[in-house]
Amino acid sequence: MSTLPVYRWRLAPDGYATRRQLRARGLRPGGQDVAAQLERPRRRRPPLVAHLYRVDLAKPVRPMTAAKWAALARANAARRTCPECRRDAGYVIPPTLGMCVPCDSRRSA
Ligand SMILES: [Zn+2]
Repeated sequence: MSTLPVYRWRLAPDGYATRRQLRARGLRPGGQDVAAQLERPRRRRPPLVAHLYRVDLAKPVRPMTAAKWAALARANAARRTCPECRRDAGYVIPPTLGMCVPCDSRRSA
């Protein structure tokens, strides 16, 4: 096992959270390994240890179902589809244009 970075209690760096702190934000470690640990020294006893996980690798507590992914994909596809030429622009249609860039250029030309 590799040596984990150890931080003093209350001095955890940004971007790290305990399992409990993740849960409070609706997140779970999501299979990632412990990234660091906190140690609180105690008199004549081994230090109290808390494991820290990376917030950026945490996953939502409620996993996305296939149906949710599909709905998300459809929503994204709709946002990429130009209402003018009905083509997938490959990027989200800028709300300021309301159509894909080629269509906007044609209109302005
Ligand atoms: Zn277009």
